[in-house]
Amino acid sequence: MPSQIRDTSRLCIHSITHQPWPIETTIEQLSARSVGGITLWRQALEGHSVSAIAAHIRVAGLKVISLCRGGFFPATDISQQLRAIDDNRKAIDQAAELGAPLLVLVPGADPSQSLYTSRQQIAEGIAAILPHAAACDVRLGIEALHPMYADTRSAINTLRQANELCAQFNSPSLGVVVDVYHLWWDPDLQVEIQRAGDAQRIFAYHICDWKSPTTDLLNDRGLMGEGCIPLRQIRSWIESSGFDGFHEVEIFSNHYWAMEQEVFLERIIQAYLDHS
Ligand code: ZN
Repeated sequence: MPSQIRDTSRLCIHSITHQPWPIETTIEQLSARSVGGITLWRQALEGHSVSAIAAHIRVAGLKVISLCRGGFFPATDISQQLRAIDDNRKAIDQAAELGAPLLVLVPGADPSQSLYTSRQQIAEGIAAILPHAAACDVRLGIEALHPMYADTRSAINTLRQANELCAQFNSPSLGVVVDVYHLWWDPDLQVEIQRAGDAQRIFAYHICDWKSPTTDLLNDRGLMGEGCIPLRQIRSWIESSGFDGFHEVEIFSNHYWAMEQEVFLERIIQAYLDHS
């Protein structure tokens, strides 16, 4: 037994972080290291029985933190918008079956229309699925994405925008996901974290680091401590806002996916303990 106490009870790891592993392996490996929580990448469920995965996670002693991801509401074509709404309802059903209390929404954007129109469609999409989410006891968390993704992934790019969208609905089933990778640069971050906390709308907290230089806009996220995000400062804001949930490591990285995953997992745990 290590002499040093490693408290990983509030550590959650997003399954995409260990993309090379089958989902069953990720569950076993996290459980073996007493990681407290897991978030499931929706694609990892394909070809699997959702109820069997839910049972495996329960037996392994892990808590499901969220299902990732729904959203992607905007489209120029109405039939595509309706398909997105339908697919989000299915994602809510899957989250309920998994016992996931939260579905993370990546809002979406379509570069062939204005951001204004995309934002309207995001609001319409949320309005269409919110009653189903509430009925299934699954909360929806709007994740604002870094503005470099405003063309195709998200027309919601700041926590302020996400907070305002939540205020429009004023539903206990709708809140925000604070991801440091997307939001660390925002001069209003502290104020908006407090605002979300005051309204009890922080549903999840995602961590990693911003490598400088970043060589790939999607798949070059860093381990905590490896980049320039002031993780401890943001954590202090999150905690003083009243959030006491899991700290979720979400690392999309070609570099780390190429390495031995057990070694990577040990490095994640150490980086979580040392830097976040
Ligand atoms: Zn995230």
